Amino acid sequence: MSDLTNHFIGLNTEYKLADGTTKRRLHLDGAASPLVMQTAIDARNALLPHYSNSHSFSHASAHICGQAHTWAKQTILDVCGADERYSLVSLGNGTTAVMNNLARRLKPRSAEKPIVLVSAMEHHANDLPHREQSASVGAQVIHIPLRGESARQGEIDLSALEALLKEHAGKVNYVSFSGVSNVTGIVNPVADIVALAHQYNALAILDAAQSAPHMRLNIAEYDIDFVAFSGHKVYCAGSPGILIAKSEYLAQYPSDEVGGGVVERVDYQSADYLKTYPEREQAGTKDILGLYSLAKVMAALRDYGLDKVSAHGAELWQYAAEKLSTVQGLFIYGQSEQTRLGALSFNIDGIDHGLVASILSDYFGIAVRNECFCAHPYVSSMIKEALWELDLDEVPEDEQEALINRKRGMVRASFSLYNTREDVDALYAALTDIVAKQASFAKEYNVTRSGAYLHKHFVVELSL
Ligand code: PMP
Repeated sequence: MSDLTNHFIGLNTEYKLADGTTKRRLHLDGAASPLVMQTAIDARNALLPHYSNSHSFSHASAHICGQAHTWAKQTILDVCGADERYSLVSLGNGTTAVMNNLARRLKPRSAEKPIVLVSAMEHHANDLPHREQSASVGAQVIHIPLRGESARQGEIDLSALEALLKEHAGKVNYVSFSGVSNVTGIVNPVADIVALAHQYNALAILDAAQSAPHMRLNIAEYDIDFVAFSGHKVYCAGSPGILIAKSEYLAQYPSDEVGGGVVERVDYQSADYLKTYPEREQAGTKDILGLYSLAKVMAALRDYGLDKVSAHGAELWQYAAEKLSTVQGLFIYGQSEQTRLGALSFNIDGIDHGLVASILSDYFGIAVRNECFCAHPYVSSMIKEALWELDLDEVPEDEQEALINRKRGMVRASFSLYNTREDVDALYAALTDIVAKQASFAKEYNVTRSGAYLHKHFVVELSL
C-alpha cells in the first residue's frame, strides 16, 4: 500500500465553530478511538454479500464466513508475532471485556498465589477487574511503583517490581501492565517485565490497548502469557476486544463463559464442553465482520511497515513535546529517556483543563480529551502537588469541591498514524492564542460544578 496515512475516514470532516466560521476538524483523540481506516470498511463491504452465521455449517455463505473468521484470527496472531503456542479469543467490549475475563479466569490460582501486581499507571480497565476479583476471594492487588516522582513519573520501576516479586515470592498470581500509557505515552520495558514475572513464577498480562496501533507486539519473542487490546483502537470501529493467550493456559484456566458453540453434548441435567482450544472459548456468535475488518487493517499496517508506524509515532510525539513546551506556562506530564508515542498530556498554568479543551474544539476545531482519562489514581498522583498548592482558605466551603473538580485533570492530545507535523503546528498556534486571549475566551463560558465548560451561545448539533 502506497500512502496509508491518507486512508482514513473523516480526515476532511468540517464543523461550524463558535465564531461562525467552518473548519476542517482535527482529530487529536486517537488514544480514545482513532479515525477508521478505509480498509476496515472495504473489508466489511467485501464480506457483507456473504454475511451469515458461521455456526450454520451446511451452506456456502456460512463456509465463507467461517473461513474469513479463521483467516482473520490467524492474520491477527501473525501480525502480533504470536506463534503456534498461542490462540486468539474475541470478546465484546474491548480491552475491558478481556481484562474482566482474565481476572475471573485466573482467580482460582489465588488460593495459592493471593497477590496480583498491577502497575501504578493503569487504565481502570486493567486495574478494577483485578481488584474486584481479588477482593471476592480475599486476595490482594498491589500497585507497582513507577520511576521518578509525582508529575515526572516514568516507566514501571523494574527494581521495585523485583522487590515486590521477592517479598511475595511464589505468591504472585500475575503481573498486569500496559505497554504504552494512555496518559503520558510512556513505553514500558515489556520484555524485561515479562522475564521478571516468569523468574518469580508469576504470569504476565500485557494491556496492549495503546501499543497495538503503534508498534510490534512481539508476543512470542517476549514470551507474554496473555495480551489484550481493542479493535477500535486499531483504526477499526466496532470490532471486538482481542485476547491472545498461550493455549495451554486457556485449557488450564478455562473461561466461565458458556452457551452455544462450545459444547459436545447437553441434556437437562449436565453439559460436556469441548476439549479443544480455542474452540471451547468462543461461546455465542462471533463478531465475524469486526474481526475480519480488524485483520485486514492489521495486515495493511504490517504491509505498510510496523517499524514505519512506530517511527512516525515517536517522531511526532517528540516534535509535539518540543513545540508545545514552548507555550507559555505549559507543562507536559511524565518523564522518560525512552521513546514515547500516542498520548501527550499537559496543563497550562492558570487555565483549567476543561476550558482549554472546550476552546480548542469550539474555536479551533481541534478534538482533544480532558479530565482523568479513566486512570484516576495515575493522574491524581501526577497532579496532587498542584492540588495541594490551591489556596482553599479564600474559597467559600460550598465552592471548594467545584474548584477541585475544575483543577483535577489534564488535557490530552493524542497522535495517530494520520496525524502530521502540521497538525501539531495547528495545536501549538491554537494554544498560544488561548494563552494570549484567555480572559476573553473565558467570558464566553459557564462552568458546571463538575468542571465542564459550556459555551454560552454555541452548541454542537447532530446533523446527520
Ligand atoms: N487500557 C488502556 C491502556 C486504554 O487506553 C484503554 C482505552 N482508553 C483501555 C484499556 C480500555 O479499552 P476499551 O475501552 O476498548 O475497553
